[in-house]
Amino acid sequence: MILELANKKSVKNILEKKGFAFKKSLGQNFLVDSTVAPKMAECSADKNTGVLEIGPGAGVLTRELSRRAKKVVAIELDESLRPILRDTLKDCENAEVIFGDVLKTDLKAVFRERFSGCERITVCANLPYYITSPVIMKLLESELPIERVTVMVQKEAADRICAKVGSRAAGAVTAAINYYAQAEPLFFVPKNSFLPEPKVDSEVINLKIRTMPPVEVADREFFFRIVNACFMLRRKTAVNSISNAMNIDKKTVKQVLSELGINETARGETFDMKTLAAISGELKKCLQKR
Ligand code: SAM
Repeated sequence: MILELANKKSVKNILEKKGFAFKKSLGQNFLVDSTVAPKMAECSADKNTGVLEIGPGAGVLTRELSRRAKKVVAIELDESLRPILRDTLKDCENAEVIFGDVLKTDLKAVFRERFSGCERITVCANLPYYITSPVIMKLLESELPIERVTVMVQKEAADRICAKVGSRAAGAVTAAINYYAQAEPLFFVPKNSFLPEPKVDSEVINLKIRTMPPVEVADREFFFRIVNACFMLRRKTAVNSISNAMNIDKKTVKQVLSELGINETARGETFDMKTLAAISGELKKCLQKR
């Protein structure tokens, strides 16, 4: 049984024949629009590329990637998809499925062992929405040799990830992702492109991994703690947010902001990357002097 077309009827047929039941808890909304998977695959694969896919589901996107890439490795948590993927990927000799949780998988080992001979490696996925941020952050923080990450996420998450740091639409995740990658929206995907139909629309976004961070940061962990603190309590001033979240006295935070020429009533969500980096650097120095 080969999945010829990603339409509702053929995907439904395959799943029903194998007695598959969708698991909402695993974010299972499978693509049934025949135009979306080829478009995503086109953005991330060519004959020299190794592609990591997360959550292949019934294999709709995997097949499109397999047609274009040198090698495809897909990580799927749901064991009940094993017989389905065995069938739908029967003719995809360069595609391999690893059953496991992507968040617990040693990706460095996967890259080392399965992508030898690939000139570049990309990630392409219709992400399970309940773990969008943790998966993206794992990919970015692991220092893997990834060139780009092309993922479908909920529209709202896409807007946040692709927002300008310092704008109203931005959040801690915007700054965290921006540190590692340049995010851009690629195309909109309406909710009726999936089976079952989710409540919200989606968007495919592209994260181009930076070769150098946009700001210099001496202590990355401390920088990310500052970023989280600035966005955690959005209605409070940065002085209050940083002081509360990091347990640093207000006087010290005020002094650092004032030395950097930042108004003490400023809110953290308005800071750009440079300002966040400057605060983190100066505050760290100030605490070390004590
Ligand atoms: N790629 C398919 C498509 O586009 O039709 C399915 C996408 S569906 C939104 C998300 C997939 O991720 C499901 O197959 C689900 O079982 C899988 N998944 C959920 N949690 C996962 C995890 N922690 N690790 C790996 N796969 C996971």
